Amino acid sequence: MAEKRKFKKRYCKYCEAKIDYIDYKDMNLYKHSLSERYKIMPRRLTGNCKVHQDMVTDAIKRARHIALVPYIVDRKQVTQYSLD
Ligand SMILES: [Zn+2]
Repeated sequence: MAEKRKFKKRYCKYCEAKIDYIDYKDMNLYKHSLSERYKIMPRRLTGNCKVHQDMVTDAIKRARHIALVPYIVDRKQVTQYSLD
């Protein structure tokens, strides 16, 4: 297929690193599961397994609750000093 893919190899990073619990306080653990607008990346893009994706989702939602991760990112914050 000529489709351009952002993630070439699909494997679960957490399984590889043998992580059995994702702490919501440790942003480094789930940083790559967040998009640039701090959305949770879907499993089909990151290649996480179901178990770890659920853990990531849970951790990110908790982190949002205590304001470690923003819920929404304003367009102005993404493209700083844009014309409009
Ligand atoms: Zn996994």
